[in-house]
Amino acid sequence: MSRVSDIIMRLSKEYPHAVITLDFENPLQLLVATILSAQSTDERVNRITPALFKEYRTCKDFAEVDLQALQGFIKPLGLYKSKAAFIIGACQKIVENFHSTVPNSMEDLTTLPGVGRKTANVILSNAFGKEEGIIVDTHVNRLSRRLGLTSQENPQQVEKDLMRIVPRREWLHFSTLLIYHGRAICHAHNPECRSCVIRGLCPSRQDIQPVLPHEHEPPGRTSSSSSTAHKAFSTGLKSTLPCTTLHEFSSFCEFLERTSNMNLIFTLVFFDEVLSGSRWKLTVVSKNRSATLV
Ligand code: SF4
Repeated sequence: MSRVSDIIMRLSKEYPHAVITLDFENPLQLLVATILSAQSTDERVNRITPALFKEYRTCKDFAEVDLQALQGFIKPLGLYKSKAAFIIGACQKIVENFHSTVPNSMEDLTTLPGVGRKTANVILSNAFGKEEGIIVDTHVNRLSRRLGLTSQENPQQVEKDLMRIVPRREWLHFSTLLIYHGRAICHAHNPECRSCVIRGLCPSRQDIQPVLPHEHEPPGRTSSSSSTAHKAFSTGLKSTLPCTTLHEFSSFCEFLERTSNMNLIFTLVFFDEVLSGSRWKLTVVSKNRSATLV
């Protein structure tokens, strides 16, 4: 199984009901909601749109809406001036060029004001069931880099890299899963790597921290051992983690090898069955400070 497929499988188990969280009933509503969601949360958009969609039901309604009236509706979401202009401009173009029907191709959608590839991908995949690309929002962009699936930062370049490695039938599912995981665990600041179900597959996991030996010293350990350990660790690095599978164990070892250019050569000191069942505790220290702790 490829690493991407493994990531999809684990995240699917974690988020079995992952679907788009914007509320909509037709392509027009999704177009408007997606434009509104820029720099806002889906939850906040969902609070505004029921009243908005009750007032304006067709492309013609939005194309002819009074600019200030629309701005008043959407003001709580921020960027309301540009969002109102995009919604009106997009709907005017749909009325003029597409017979008042939201187009269903990437080429046509991206001619609309305020609609780039990301918005077009959201509409095509969620409203029309067409997967022409992968949605790269802020979460997908960040997680793809952290997971080592791309080294790019430009969303279009990230999308190209992902389209090469993610199976096409999974394009929508994959981006939805990364969005859920980015919101729940892999935050922009302080990702919760210790709670992450794909930590064993992630080269960016953040769980190597300097620690003092007594934090992990079992009760009753002799003082000489403690002293040796203290010398070994007082200026060194120690990392412990529960590996739930051997696959995670081997992924973590690969990760350590890759980090050896940090001037730290890691070596496995002990691999101890200290928990229960198949859970293991792995402890590593830098080679030049290694000590026998058992
Ligand atoms: S291990 Fe950490 S950085 Fe990697 S995906 Fe999980 S939360 Fe994000």
